[in-house]
Amino acid sequence: MMRMRNEPTKSAACSRREFLGGALAAGAGAILPRMSARAEEGKSLKIARVETFPVSYKTVGRFKFFEDAMGRPTGRPTVVVKITADDGTQGWGQSVPTPKWSYETLETVQTTIERYLAPVLIGRDALDIDGAHAAMNRAIAPSFSTGQPICKAGIDLALWDLAGRARGKSIAEMWGLKGIRDITLSWTLNPAKLDDIEPLIEEGRRAGYRNFNVKVAPDPKFDIELCRRVKKAAPDGFLWADANGGYDLATALEVIPKLADAGVEVLEQPLPANRLTGYRDIRKLKALPILMDEGLVSSAELEEFIKLGLLDGVAMKPARCGGLTDAKRQIELARRHGLMVLGSGLTDPDISLAASLVLYGAFDLTRPAALNGPQFLQGSILKKPFKVESGRLRVPTGPGLGVEVDPAKIASGP
Ligand SMILES: [Mg+2]
Repeated sequence: MMRMRNEPTKSAACSRREFLGGALAAGAGAILPRMSARAEEGKSLKIARVETFPVSYKTVGRFKFFEDAMGRPTGRPTVVVKITADDGTQGWGQSVPTPKWSYETLETVQTTIERYLAPVLIGRDALDIDGAHAAMNRAIAPSFSTGQPICKAGIDLALWDLAGRARGKSIAEMWGLKGIRDITLSWTLNPAKLDDIEPLIEEGRRAGYRNFNVKVAPDPKFDIELCRRVKKAAPDGFLWADANGGYDLATALEVIPKLADAGVEVLEQPLPANRLTGYRDIRKLKALPILMDEGLVSSAELEEFIKLGLLDGVAMKPARCGGLTDAKRQIELARRHGLMVLGSGLTDPDISLAASLVLYGAFDLTRPAALNGPQFLQGSILKKPFKVESGRLRVPTGPGLGVEVDPAKIASGP
């Protein structure tokens, strides 16, 4: 745990917060808009403390990113980040390392925040989020793109949450956006064998889902049959296939038209992220819209890839790109160039899920989002956990990320 350099002084701001805290408690848990007296006066808030809490969620069902070599579930690791300003205002974030998807781990997230990021953040203006990113990027430099983006996303989310709470506004309000009230989800299908498909679709239907995100690659025969069966079982659902970079170019060129014939509507990340000329060749087929996921970390490479004509759209996930700050830039950039933007995720729980919903809601993403945290994860650290209804989730509308963390659930485990 990182300690602040100076303990906060007991000020008029603190007294007002305590008063409002009491009023909140009396308000039967309702999230009332409130503004830190310091933010109200237009004064800056300083980052006083950055704390990290490892939180692991139990998984349900099979998902290839959360199983060991023997196929046993590993759980979903996360690091919860709490940032406290010098007037006591708090913001909560969550990093969602997924080592089988990219290189960050629970341990690297925690040590990077504690040893490298917190020391350059403490004492900074808590409301200067661009400045915080610049400081973080000097401490953990980029490689091809942003260094340790999933780790930095936890900090970014906590700072947006803190800024919203300090100003008494939701993040969409701070962006000047109205947005939509709820997000339609897609059900992820990741069957180990073809006979599992129909029962998995039925399970999704029972949970209220009508749209399906299918994990494909590396076996094209399996993938074509998988997509055919999904389309047959759910002819009206949106069918989105994600290869997670699992094809080589020759296989991709052969399988893409067949996936289109099988009813697939978009194909995400067919090739490894660094096979750029392969993406150029695949797009010449014009068989399916090609989305990128793993290959897009910052808006800088999105801009380059657009200029090079390598993609038709973006599978958005704030966790992948260092948080909401650059994710917003990427959506704006993609929209300016007429690219498709689909909401996606890294099997996000709680705070990371809230950030994704806030982003997709603010930018009116109406196509089904591949936010599969509620499908694959058990438990919650929120006072009021998210609940999927008819395959949809409500966009939180309270100040900041609009969710209340229960510290007791962090201590006991979700
Ligand atoms: Mg993906």
